[in-house]
Amino acid sequence: MDETTSKLAFDTDWQYDPAPESTDHIRIDEQYELFIGGEFVAPKEGRYFDSINPANEQVLARVAAAGKDDVARAVKAARKAYQTSWSTLKPAERGKYIYRIARVLQERAREFAVIETLDGGKPIRESRDIDIPLAAAHFFYYAGWADKLEYAFPGKQVAALGVAGQIIPWNFPLLMAAWKIAPALACGNTVVLKPAETTPLTALKLAEVIRDAGLPPGVVNIVTGAGDTGAALVDHPDIDKIAFTGSTAVGRSIQKSLAGTSTKYTLELGGKAANIIFADAAIDEAVEGIVNGIFFNQGHVCCAGSRLLVQESVADEVIRKLKDRMESLIVGDPMDKNTDIGAINSPAQLAKIEDYLRIGQAEGGEMYQSSATLPTTGYWCRPTLFTGVSQSNRVVQEEIFGPVLAIQTFRTLEEGLDKANNTPYGLSGGVWTDKGAKIFKMTRAIRAGVIWANTFNKFDPASPFGGYKESGMGREGGLHGLDAYLELS
Ligand code: ADP
Repeated sequence: MDETTSKLAFDTDWQYDPAPESTDHIRIDEQYELFIGGEFVAPKEGRYFDSINPANEQVLARVAAAGKDDVARAVKAARKAYQTSWSTLKPAERGKYIYRIARVLQERAREFAVIETLDGGKPIRESRDIDIPLAAAHFFYYAGWADKLEYAFPGKQVAALGVAGQIIPWNFPLLMAAWKIAPALACGNTVVLKPAETTPLTALKLAEVIRDAGLPPGVVNIVTGAGDTGAALVDHPDIDKIAFTGSTAVGRSIQKSLAGTSTKYTLELGGKAANIIFADAAIDEAVEGIVNGIFFNQGHVCCAGSRLLVQESVADEVIRKLKDRMESLIVGDPMDKNTDIGAINSPAQLAKIEDYLRIGQAEGGEMYQSSATLPTTGYWCRPTLFTGVSQSNRVVQEEIFGPVLAIQTFRTLEEGLDKANNTPYGLSGGVWTDKGAKIFKMTRAIRAGVIWANTFNKFDPASPFGGYKESGMGREGGLHGLDAYLELS
């Protein structure tokens, strides 16, 4: 498309008709309890919190807040299940249970997708096409490994670790639960999982699936609550392994709490990934990749392509096409199948993003936002980009976790590489070029766990994921994900 046709395409003022997903087929209870020892039990201290739909600020359900005693009860149930049932089962039998969870998730995919979108604010298209199918795929993948662990690590003896405490964030609630629970169970561990306080509902629905799948009581326990519940899990002396995904600040505090103990841990933390566009790249595809990288899931993605490094000779073209494309993105009702950008997950997250918009401008950056009309209730942010920013600016260095892109240019490959690596993080990156040699050179030299070439944000249960530097330690997914839940000797 040349400049004139591209402009024409976006100047038309027609709109998509609304295409809302129905909520008729789903059930959300008024109140949810803790899932401990195979049953739903009330929290000892009687505390509850509301889970809110961030697109309309309405309460979806009241959810139990687990205190220290509840966490202790869950760990005790997990220990008992580990000793008396799960570790004594034949591996193939463990695999059958995990397959059963995967199949039920597939059967109930639509219901899970709707609840994920209501609770978290992400577009239904994403929960339907990405979150839920990938969550089921993780259970399928790890179910397959349950009776083949000795082939995964030839020549080694494998043994489960015991009880795993798992703490997950709000950006991919069910998918993160699957990433954590599936490999742990396949390796013979039992788990206590704490979902994020703003998105507990699909984990509680998963608890129902696990109960209905007939898993022995206590193999999976789900304790809802905020940071204090997470801290109680980390501090519990009878946990063998902590798996955490979330902010670098909390990751650091977990590392401190566990220093000097025998508890193993993996941490998947923040990111500030760069999409690097060379002049010889297929520009239209690259623009789609950038859009997917930062605006997908409102930028609530730790591996989001929140920085764009574009070679100087094509910078004007890329930025113009990007602005055109941003203008066509639909921001609004996450339940509408046409929506590209849904609601920001919480008022706290929106306030953080808005702070960064002010900081970026105060630092001298030029801010551009699409002209999308935002709904009047709920939490929203237009797709945003900053130009005229430099390496030391906070919007270039710090994780914003919103639909905000910081753009810089480079002339040579070396300059692009230097800028890409000049960040405390190292979770992911993207390289866009026509030349295979450049891809190899860049992917070897970028200090990040996952690097996509001529694509972005692609996931598969068989490939490992994790970061360098302040993005964390340890890997999830693939064989690496098994390793994290086994003692190898
Ligand atoms: P985010 O910025 O993604 O919300 P957080 O690190 O704050 O990241 O939250 C990720 C998960 O960690 C959530 O489940 C949250 O409740 C939990 N959490 C927060 N503070 C602590 C803590 N001090 N110890 C353990 N878990 C915590």
